[in-house]
Amino acid sequence: MSRIKSAEIKIGLEVHCQLTNLMTKLFCSCSSDYRGKDPNTHICPICMGMPGTLPVLNEKALEDATMVAIALNSNISDRMLFFRKNYFYPDMPKNFQISQYDKAGGVPFSLGGYIQIDKEKIRIRRTQIEEDPGKLSYEGTIESSPSTLVDYNRAGIALIEIVTEPDIRSPKEARLFLEKLRSILEHLGVSDGSLEGAMRCDANISLKGGRRVEIKNISSFKEVERALNFEITRQKSFIERGIIVGQETRHWDEVRRITVSLRSKEEEQDYRYFPEPDLVPVTISKDYIQKVKVKMPELPDDRMRRFIEQYDLTLQNAEILTRNKEMADFFEECVELYKNSREISNWLIGELLPYVRDKNVEIEELKVTPKHLTDMLRFIDDGTISRKMAQSVFREILSTGKMPDSIIKEKGLKKILDKQYVVEMVEKVLKENPRAVEDALTDEKAINYLMGQLMKLTKGRIDPKVAGEIMRRRLSDLTKGIS
Ligand code: ZN
Ligand code: MN
Repeated sequence: MSRIKSAEIKIGLEVHCQLTNLMTKLFCSCSSDYRGKDPNTHICPICMGMPGTLPVLNEKALEDATMVAIALNSNISDRMLFFRKNYFYPDMPKNFQISQYDKAGGVPFSLGGYIQIDKEKIRIRRTQIEEDPGKLSYEGTIESSPSTLVDYNRAGIALIEIVTEPDIRSPKEARLFLEKLRSILEHLGVSDGSLEGAMRCDANISLKGGRRVEIKNISSFKEVERALNFEITRQKSFIERGIIVGQETRHWDEVRRITVSLRSKEEEQDYRYFPEPDLVPVTISKDYIQKVKVKMPELPDDRMRRFIEQYDLTLQNAEILTRNKEMADFFEECVELYKNSREISNWLIGELLPYVRDKNVEIEELKVTPKHLTDMLRFIDDGTISRKMAQSVFREILSTGKMPDSIIKEKGLKKILDKQYVVEMVEKVLKENPRAVEDALTDEKAINYLMGQLMKLTKGRIDPKVAGEIMRRRLSDLTKGIS
């Protein structure tokens, strides 16, 4: 049994989200559409930090950040400053990152706020606007003296950094927080979490009796829960053996699925923050915030409440569906095509989401469309297929993308409504299982066995309710000595 209770686990997250709805980088006019492009083709003298160039703030980034801060219930600063974060690492050609700072007279974009997860409020410490560094890749191995390649296409892309208080109590809650955050950003239309590297996360975690350990390099939200679970196991085993868990920064090795210690030297950073002299302080008026607020799209929590009202969903189901914008959109598209919203929600939550989780895919990568699902539901309604058969039709849709009518035709799945056929099959089963028939007169379990044989024989293509009635009638005839 684990001796560490969840109340003794403290997790904080630092999330970097690219503002993927911007056409250009944060401070220059380079295109932000850098993915898959040849290295160092989306660069200019400004994002390369050439002497004599001046950065200019992308106004749309300010609007995005304002929407995010409002959605996170955060207090937007009335006057915002940019700071230089100096460091010597080749991912920034300027040797500094334009960022923000909450000390030395610095004011980040916004302070405070929270995200609601079930009944818990996970507090936000701050949000800030900053630029993304470039991307490094390595060639060769340590033995063969590796070389580092730099691609600056990503350098200067607009980011929002969101830092939480250490309010998260479990790896699962961390995942729920990140899912909710992603849903909020996607509802706002500011960041598309399905794009590779668009949302990245560092985590810090401490267990009672140990110090704070930071985990860096978690490349996707999906990895966060895994990395945290590993850290808890590792730290627990230290604490239980009386070994002190020291403060350190660790790196998540996605391939080996373990965290590894970085040299402690690397964590002693002195970034020598100072105000960015090339950018003016930005004043953010109440009026501006109000203007942004009125044109903000619907947020997940509002959508959840609307789903309960409009589509008669349970709170729990509405919450699950709005956890993911794609899922919520999918649901509403289905409702346009088919009126039984509860039925749709049951199929999405009971069948589609487990599949998505299992295969570790994005909803937009799926072959199933709202038309697939609603066509299939109509085939259940008109008795063409049973609910049980629909499950295998649905699995077939998910793996092939074929329409339900052609799956039913190809697999010969049509339900057999002919009563005479059912009677014949019941007779066949009774004849082939005399022992069970004898037992069935006194033992309910034997009836279930006979029904199982019947469904097997007919490949589940008959109506179990009708078949059950016929079976029981036949058995009771037998007890009365009618044959
Ligand atoms: Zn540029
Ligand atoms: Mn940052």
